[in-house]
Amino acid sequence: MDFLVDLIIIWGIIVLYRRWTAAGRARFRPAPPGPAPTPRVRSGGEMAACAHCGLFLPRTDTVTGTDGQTYCSREHARAHR
Ligand SMILES: [Zn+2]
Repeated sequence: MDFLVDLIIIWGIIVLYRRWTAAGRARFRPAPPGPAPTPRVRSGGEMAACAHCGLFLPRTDTVTGTDGQTYCSREHARAHR
């Protein structure tokens, strides 16, 4: 009879250990990968590259050169000639 009680105690310990380790694994599991982050762009912000240095900036902040190309500044529009 003592053997049966020992067996039940050992079985209980095993069950509790398995539950404890499973909970530990679930707690430290890395979060599932979510959707890829979308690049933040100002609303209505179409981007354009400077024809001189290649810098991307909102089209509203660009300077149009005499050649019709877009630049990040008047200095680059002048320097590109
Ligand atoms: Zn530039």
